[in-house]
Amino acid sequence: MEKKTGVYICSGCGIGDALNIDQLAGIAGEHNVAICKNHAVLCSKEGLQLIRNDIEQEGINTIVIAACSPRVMYDVFSFDGCIIDRVNLREQVVWSQPPGDENTQMMAEDYLRMGLAKVNRMELPEPYKPDIEMSKDVLVVGGGVTGMSAALAAASAGYRVTLVEKSSELGGFQKDVKEIATFPYKKGLQSNNIVSDLIQKVQGHENIRVYTGAKIESTAGGPGLFDVKISQNGSSFEHRFGAIVLATGWVPYDPTKLDKRLGYGLSNVITSVDFERMVAEGGIKRPKDGGEAKNVAFVLCAGSRDPNYLPYCSTVCCLTSLKQALEVKRQSPDANVFIVYKEMRTPGQSEDLYRRAQEEGVIFVRCQNPEVSKGAQGLTIKGFEDLVGEEIVIDDLDLVVLATGMVPTTSFGENVLAAEKKEGEEEAVPADVILNSDILNLQYRQGPEVPILKYGFPDSHFICFPYESRRTGIYPAGCVRRPMGIASAIEDGAGAAMKAIQCIELVHKGMAVHPRAGDTSFPEFFMQRCTQCKRCTVECPFGAINEDEKANPLPQPTRCRRCGVCMGACPERIISFKNYSVGMIGDMIKAINVPDEYEEKPRILVLACENDAYPALDMAGVRRMGYNPWVRVVPLRCLGSMNLIWIADALSSGIDGVVLLGCKYGDDYQCHFIKGSELANIRLSKIKETLDRLALESDRVRFETVSISDYDRLSKILDEFSERVQEIGPNPYKGF
Ligand code: SF4
Ligand code: SF4
Repeated sequence: MEKKTGVYICSGCGIGDALNIDQLAGIAGEHNVAICKNHAVLCSKEGLQLIRNDIEQEGINTIVIAACSPRVMYDVFSFDGCIIDRVNLREQVVWSQPPGDENTQMMAEDYLRMGLAKVNRMELPEPYKPDIEMSKDVLVVGGGVTGMSAALAAASAGYRVTLVEKSSELGGFQKDVKEIATFPYKKGLQSNNIVSDLIQKVQGHENIRVYTGAKIESTAGGPGLFDVKISQNGSSFEHRFGAIVLATGWVPYDPTKLDKRLGYGLSNVITSVDFERMVAEGGIKRPKDGGEAKNVAFVLCAGSRDPNYLPYCSTVCCLTSLKQALEVKRQSPDANVFIVYKEMRTPGQSEDLYRRAQEEGVIFVRCQNPEVSKGAQGLTIKGFEDLVGEEIVIDDLDLVVLATGMVPTTSFGENVLAAEKKEGEEEAVPADVILNSDILNLQYRQGPEVPILKYGFPDSHFICFPYESRRTGIYPAGCVRRPMGIASAIEDGAGAAMKAIQCIELVHKGMAVHPRAGDTSFPEFFMQRCTQCKRCTVECPFGAINEDEKANPLPQPTRCRRCGVCMGACPERIISFKNYSVGMIGDMIKAINVPDEYEEKPRILVLACENDAYPALDMAGVRRMGYNPWVRVVPLRCLGSMNLIWIADALSSGIDGVVLLGCKYGDDYQCHFIKGSELANIRLSKIKETLDRLALESDRVRFETVSISDYDRLSKILDEFSERVQEIGPNPYKGF
């Protein structure tokens, strides 16, 4: 489209008091701008009307709004069919720099130049619409409490749902549990009709098709286009789905892996899951000889919260043991029942169950390292009682129940199992588990598994994006996502169903899911120059690029989250978005006015991730925490989209230093695109070559990770860096 550019400068929110607006408008005059206007409150009805009139009457189709941060008022400054850029004069200039200062004015002018350079390169994105028909159907994998809740939530919202369960009946683990602990009912316990109610509702819902005894053979495509092959009773069929809820649940931690001191393997030492089966089968007895179990001990955190076994808390074991202890008391009121615990965790109203167990005579023993052994008669537990401060012995026990934790079904990957397999062992897979690769069997270049994070859970970003996996359109819910009880699992199923619906609706409009929800751009590949190097297919964090047999990338736009990591990875620089490209950022950098060394005004380029670092800079402005006036910030979709050419260009144009601000990465990462900032750091290790070629000091480039709450660290980081740059001296390329 032929661009006709209008620049609109707001003088409200202190902008007009801090800057010379006429001088700023003069910058627009130096560019090919049709209209440049200012308004006292641009976001007001009148201010917006001013812009709308120019669109309608003057044919303005490219708009630069020089006002507040692009993170606010994005719905207000939205004009259909126009290219728009926001120049952040408020938070990142006048609220973070002294008013009326020459440097503040220079900063504002640079940002306006950069905005103009940006729109000059930008094109209007067109939403991705595949040639084949997209589906709005939801696939739910797993027919337990979570899966059934997800299916009901999506079906009630009007979506067709297919529920696939591997076993012959719906209900999952809970269907065999006689009495469950959810709150607040009947002092904490109720008979298990929640599961039968759910089964009835699912089976009776007109929008839900149920396949039990069924398996997913393969899953190809992406959101809106998931082509899934399902097999049942020896036959198979294919169906297209819009999104998938993964509710495959958990399996008990393998007790054979426990510390021998806990006694697993001795007669009459069982797990909570064994105990549950025992109750369902009719009564609490000694497994060895069927004799009465009058002295029973429950050992909590059996392997849990222990870095050597299961490092996390499974959240339900304390409650389950309390419930089971009460069951012993119910079946035999004069039984001696002990709970040996590290800490009791009974949050919220479940505290009532704890009190009830105390009232009914259950004896609580606080002990960090109990030892279970065979005694003269029955079993013995020894350990140090924390509260009385003495060694204690509980003997003549008929039954010891170990509260083992929950392991997500996704954690059984081939690599994990191979690593766990000891010499001579046949099979490391627990009997009732299928491999991660067999759950969905993804036909992705990046492999058939849903990627897992710490401890085997398939989440994507545990802080910001619950229900996300690292495969767009696949939403884990329930105990496969994190350990939880029934009440949470019901909510979780509904939550994941809502995410699935959100994804379906967005991809039908050709839009990205979050964090760039609503973005209609997608990466385009100039294939004539592709060298089949595979960097893009390997580095895409979401498996959004497949590959043909000749290693040509095959982008899958509905899987894409528009992070631009592929753009940063491509050595040929042939991947770009209509509104984000290597050339566009390069032009913005070149638009920075670099004063010569005699003016003693160094320039520092800050490439800031728009997810955490950029908002943190905004917050520093909101709190009026000033920072160095030499900095010029360019927001990036993700630091992983950073191309080294930008650094080389910046330094060779005389900019004195470059700071990269990315999200934290590692196990407790916060990178919104999983590994973008980590990849940027890896790429940065190669910058030395460029610096050597330019005969520049390595200290001129710095990488920092910040979270959104680090706004108070930013001025220190930028000030320190600026001091270091001044120590090194001006960039010798100034003026060339
Ligand atoms: S790297 Fe990011 S932008 Fe590129 S294909 Fe993957 S998800 Fe999309
Ligand atoms: S990174 Fe670039 S050159 Fe390499 S395969 Fe991908 S598109 Fe082709």
